[in-house]
Amino acid sequence: MVESVALVIPSLEKLGISRDRPLVIVDVDEVLGLFMKGFGGFLDARGYDFRIDRFALFQNIYVRGAVEHLDLETGRALFNEFFASHCAEIEPAPGAIEALTRLHRRAEILILSNAPPQAEQLRGEWLRRHGLPHPLILSSGPKGPITAGLVAQTPQRTAFVDDLLPNLDSVAEHSPATATFQHVADERLRPLAPSAPERHPRIDDWAELAAAIEAAIHRP
Ligand SMILES: [Mg+2]
Repeated sequence: MVESVALVIPSLEKLGISRDRPLVIVDVDEVLGLFMKGFGGFLDARGYDFRIDRFALFQNIYVRGAVEHLDLETGRALFNEFFASHCAEIEPAPGAIEALTRLHRRAEILILSNAPPQAEQLRGEWLRRHGLPHPLILSSGPKGPITAGLVAQTPQRTAFVDDLLPNLDSVAEHSPATATFQHVADERLRPLAPSAPERHPRIDDWAELAAAIEAAIHRP
């Protein structure tokens, strides 16, 4: 039986987000931070290879030297352990901090990350430590419904940035007025990541991306 789970939409007011400025909603992994690199280092220290030869996650984890990838359950356990204990060690994506600092001069920033709940404290600390003291929401599943619920609370223009096409398509479906942008931070992933630039401009350089976001949210 499929049970429907009621989606709880956080209040922008309680998050400290003003309705007087445009709202930019930004992902963390492979957008603000180099997740694959950090998770790869975590796996390497435990005797696993993380082979980035396709756009996948658990299917890319191998016991060192193995031909078949690790079973998905063990991969998921490693993923959860990484988020509970090591996710504050990832490197910021090049240019991301400067770009968000620039955007924040004229817009509100909200961080929307699909990460396990146990990541909340470390992920928040990571953001603050890197000069990004913006509200953080941890979520799961396609990001369209929660984004639509957030966007509905402000009369201002909105933008959304993510590395994953399913999240971008979900936001376009549920919140069509929101400008969507794709950014893939890891250079090894860039040629592998599915894109649809006719629907979501793909801009892997953060300085260019910030300029495009500003053009979208501040146009007359
Ligand atoms: Mg991501």
